[in-house]
Amino acid sequence: MKELNCPQCSQVMTYLGKFVYQCQACEQDYQAQVHCSSCGDRLELLKACGAVDFFCNSCNEMKSKSSADYRLSALNG
Ligand SMILES: [Zn+2]
Ligand SMILES: [Zn+2]
Repeated sequence: MKELNCPQCSQVMTYLGKFVYQCQACEQDYQAQVHCSSCGDRLELLKACGAVDFFCNSCNEMKSKSSADYRLSALNG
């Protein structure tokens, strides 16, 4: 997965799987939601041949994970 930085302390976070990232400095987990960088719609996850890509239904095109817009929401616990 793409490396993401903590919104609080800017450290690179650890990817835990299932779009959950953890900042070890803040001891906070974040759920990432992937949105289209062009239209802002939520992207659909596509898995093909081991690669992960995203599809935007609004733009009707594939989006690479590096160009996608990742939005983080804090998880409790
Ligand atoms: Zn942090
Ligand atoms: Zn789009």
